[in-house]
Amino acid sequence: MGILDKVPGELQLYIGGLFTVRRRQTLEEANITHVLSVLRVDTEKELFLPYKHLAIHVDDVDDENLLQYFPATNAFIQEGLNGGGGVLVHCAMGKSRSATCVVAFLIHKYGITPQQAIEQIRQSRPFVEPNDGFMQQLELYYTMKAPESVEDTAIYQKWLYQREVELSRSCGMPPDTDKIRFEDEHTLWDGTSEGFEMRCRKCRRTLATSQYVLPHEAKVKLSQHGNAISNEPSSTECAHYFIDPLSWMRPELEQGKLEGRVECPKCATNVGKYAWQGMKCSCGAWVVPGISLAKGRIDEVLVGASKASKAIRRPAMATAAEEDDGPFTGNL
Ligand SMILES: [Zn+2]
Ligand SMILES: [Zn+2]
Repeated sequence: MGILDKVPGELQLYIGGLFTVRRRQTLEEANITHVLSVLRVDTEKELFLPYKHLAIHVDDVDDENLLQYFPATNAFIQEGLNGGGGVLVHCAMGKSRSATCVVAFLIHKYGITPQQAIEQIRQSRPFVEPNDGFMQQLELYYTMKAPESVEDTAIYQKWLYQREVELSRSCGMPPDTDKIRFEDEHTLWDGTSEGFEMRCRKCRRTLATSQYVLPHEAKVKLSQHGNAISNEPSSTECAHYFIDPLSWMRPELEQGKLEGRVECPKCATNVGKYAWQGMKCSCGAWVVPGISLAKGRIDEVLVGASKASKAIRRPAMATAAEEDDGPFTGNL
């Protein structure tokens, strides 16, 4: 254990650190033909001359985007294995970056979870530990089912947008307007799944559907002794829905302000507000970024599968909601 560790299993796949590539004889004994370097800096080129070499230039930090390279690193590893030789994946320590690429490969090849892949690798190299940011990226990669093109997935694009929001937030800035992801321009309501529409209470314009609601965890109130207090008073219920940016908000959100009002695009009634740095819900939870619709300014109308029953969530407000204007399609 240490210099060069074989990933347990059928594959001639190895993990090592920077020193490993200097152990020419060890690599020869393992019949290494391919070397994948996951390092910010280039090491001496001549070290890699005997091998097919791919270098991915990333640091071992949480906010490095390694996810974008998984299809390329997987293809390289697979090519080496197909050729019948051994493949070495190395970084500086053989702990985080290299392990992340190997985990991504195992997810892609076997469909196992990141945790299962790590457990497998740790049988021969116990200290492997992708950093927290890479762990999150591996979870995303697993969730998106290890596709050939990561960039084409909505999950990846949404993650990029969230990174952008987080980055600008840390500088006290709104995100670049061309980086804002207006979710309804990418994922459309299919009109069949169960959900509800949020409509302007004044003019009945559909503002959002429930697929764009971003759930947040109601903050549990703690007593002085740290025990959760039950029987929350009703005033702590959420007074807002927090939602994705939607295309009808473009005129407001593209002004590049940190916060502002959300107005109905049809009747200009104030229906909510937004704050890129985050907003406190009436339940006490912080939601970042916060784009909210006030429940008092909207009506909720069941749609999709639930619409057949004509069930209405707010009977008192629902008289006009029963007119059938067809399944919801297209952008809001
Ligand atoms: Zn309106
Ligand atoms: Zn809340």
